[in-house]
Amino acid sequence: MKKNYRIAVLPGDGIGPEIMQEAVKVLQLVGEREGVTFTCEEGRIGGIAIDTDGTPLPEATVKLAKQADAVLLGAVGGPKWDQNPGHLRPETGLLGIRKELGLFANIRPATMHSSLVEASTLKPEVVSGVDLIVVRELTGGIYFGEKKRYDGPNGEVAEDLCIYNEAEIERIIRVGFEIARKRKKRLVSVDKANVLESSRLWRKVAERVATDYPDVELSHQLVDSCAMQLVRAPKQFDVIVTENMFGDILSDQAAMLTGSIGMLASASLAAGSFGLYEPVHGSAPDIAGKGIANPLATILSVAMMLRLSLDMDEAAAAVENAVWSVLEAGHRTGDIARDPSKAIGTVEMGQLVRDELSKQWQPK
Ligand code: NAD
Repeated sequence: MKKNYRIAVLPGDGIGPEIMQEAVKVLQLVGEREGVTFTCEEGRIGGIAIDTDGTPLPEATVKLAKQADAVLLGAVGGPKWDQNPGHLRPETGLLGIRKELGLFANIRPATMHSSLVEASTLKPEVVSGVDLIVVRELTGGIYFGEKKRYDGPNGEVAEDLCIYNEAEIERIIRVGFEIARKRKKRLVSVDKANVLESSRLWRKVAERVATDYPDVELSHQLVDSCAMQLVRAPKQFDVIVTENMFGDILSDQAAMLTGSIGMLASASLAAGSFGLYEPVHGSAPDIAGKGIANPLATILSVAMMLRLSLDMDEAAAAVENAVWSVLEAGHRTGDIARDPSKAIGTVEMGQLVRDELSKQWQPK
C-alpha cells in the first residue's frame, strides 16, 4: 500500500462545500489512523468555476484531477446558472471531466440499512436487507452514438444510434465480475437481447468473459424483467451490470428503493484503479448554506474511494460501519429524520461519524 495519496477535491456548488468539508475530515482521520498521508488539493468545477474562471471546467482542474490518485466531487449546479447557454452550464463541467478522465464504469450501490427502512416507499419486508450494486457503462451506447435530425415524407425524423464494440463491452463486464467476485459472486447482466443486436453482442461477450471467472455465477436478464424484479423482490440481486441507458434508468430505480437521496454514494472508474467519487444527489440549492445537508452520501463516497481506488478495504469498511452505527444510535439529518425537530446538522453528523470511527478503530 502506498503511504501518500494525492486526492483532487472538487466541492462544486450549493451544499457541495459543506458536505465535502465533512468528508475530507473523515478521510484525514483515516489517514492518521492508517499512517497514510492524503494530500487533498482543491479545484473548481461547475457554477463556481463559471463565475471565477469563465468556464465550468478550467484547465487547472483537469490537470489537478489527472495528477491525482482519485477525485472527490461534491455537486454542481444552481438556479443562478440555469439560463446559461450549454457551454456555460455547470453540468457541462461534470460531463467534461468524466470524458477527460476516461471514466467508463459507473458504480452505484443501493444499500438499505435496517434503521432507515421507514424512508422507503416500499414495504419493509421487501426492502429490508437490500444490498446491491448497479454497474453502468458510461461512455458508449445510444447516448454517444451518431444523432441525426432531418425531414422525411411523414414529417421530421430523429435518429440515435446505439453502438457498442466488443472491447467496450468486455471492459465493463470485467468490472462487474471483479466487483461480484469480492461480494456474493453473483452477476446479473442486463440487456434486451430479444430485440437489440447490440444486446446480442453484449450477451455473447459476457458469456466469453465469464470463462475467466468460474467462481462467479453469471445470469442474463432482460431489462424490462429486471425493472419489475427490482421492485418486486430486490433482495435477489447482488451485482447488476448493464449498458449506458439501461443503467441510467435502473440505477435510479435501485437507488430509490432506499428512499433517501442524502445517503447514496457513487463511483465512476477509469482503466486501472483511478476513479471519481461523488454523492448521487445534486447541489440542493434549497438548503445550501443552512448547515443542514446530509454529508453521509459524500462520506460513503470516501469509503468507496478507499476500497476501489486506494486498496484500503478495511478502512472503507470501518467508515461504512461508523456511518451505520451513527444511524443505529438514532442520529438523523433533516432529510432522513422521522421527527424533524430532532434533526442534527451537517457538521454535527460529520463529527459523530468521526467519533464513532475513532471508537471502533483498532490501532495497528
Ligand atoms: P438535488 O439532489 O440537488 O435535490 C433534490 C432534493 O433533495 C432537494 O429537496 C434537496 O434539498 C434534497 N437533498 C439533496 N441532497 C441532499 C442532502 N445531501 N441532504 C439533504 N437533502 C438533500 O436535485 P435537484 O433539486 O433536482 O437539483 C439541484 C441542482 O443540482 C440542479 O442545478 C441540478 O442540475 C444539480 N444536480 C447536480 C448533480 C451532480 O452534481 N452530480 C446531480 C443532480 C442534480
